[in-house]
Amino acid sequence: MNNPLILDGAALAKKIETTLQLRVLAFQNKHNGKVPLLAAILVGGEPASATYVKMKGSACGRVGMDSRRIELPETATTAELLSAIKALNDDDDVCGILLQHPVPKQIDERAAFDAIALEKDVDGVTCLGFGRMAMGEHAYGSATPAGIMTLLDYYRIDLAGKRAVVVGRSPILGKPMAHMLLNRHATVTICHSRTNDLPSIIGEADIVVGAVGKPKFIRGEWIKEGAVVVDAGYHSGKVGDVDLETAIPRCSAYTPVPGGVGPMTIVTLISQTMEAAERRG
Ligand code: NAP
Repeated sequence: MNNPLILDGAALAKKIETTLQLRVLAFQNKHNGKVPLLAAILVGGEPASATYVKMKGSACGRVGMDSRRIELPETATTAELLSAIKALNDDDDVCGILLQHPVPKQIDERAAFDAIALEKDVDGVTCLGFGRMAMGEHAYGSATPAGIMTLLDYYRIDLAGKRAVVVGRSPILGKPMAHMLLNRHATVTICHSRTNDLPSIIGEADIVVGAVGKPKFIRGEWIKEGAVVVDAGYHSGKVGDVDLETAIPRCSAYTPVPGGVGPMTIVTLISQTMEAAERRG
């Protein structure tokens, strides 16, 4: 009977939060009681986005950091959003800025992301940050893939020389994930909706990252015996992008849904806000 390792993101996130509490206290002592502040912008009333922003604000509270929520209406324009971002860039109290994705269709999301000052881009969404990360320079990584890397490292999953397949090429997940794995010397293939013969490509992977946005899309029988399975998806019914029921008997390690990638995303955002505050001195 296969007994794969559970890559427990919920437990690791809790551990990291404990160390963050101490870092916040040290920061507070050094800065006359001031604590790092994360500003989160929510455009429109999409309930899932509102929930994510709330969860991120609660995580700030748990470690002793401040959070500020900026709400713009569903009808907001790109210009209005850019001006809200500029105000946060110029606000010395704000250490990190999060623009909750997705924004309403009429807004140029790319322009808005790129308006975030690099030193406050703690969610890793700017082109500049992405380029720097891809070139191996300092930048805050996109929170979900950066959280996945922390989880893989914590469980000492070997990456160098391994075949990694990332299914999905979105700017916030698939693309940065692939570069992070490449920077760590994995041999990386990126798949997407026009990839031919996905099952056979996945079948060659030592590490599979599911970032497709379709429930249980990646079938267990596609996965090579002993592969490491990272499931970034989260859908109603508490299922991810991988059909974990059929994948678990074949893999050597996997991220559970829930309790795998999700908590790591949030704690990475908070850690990167902490780092941004510390770097500012
Ligand atoms: P996305 O922007 O919708 O991107 C989905 C990607 O999957 C696209 O690149 C798309 O290819 C590819 N794809 C779609 N159908 C495919 C198919 N039949 N075969 C192969 N590839 C296919 O989604 P995302 O924002 O990256 O999110 C992906 C998943 O991660 C979602 O389940 C989301 O809920 C989850 N997520 C979780 C967290 C977290 O904190 N846990 C954070 C972000 C996202 P094309 O580029 O060709 O269209």
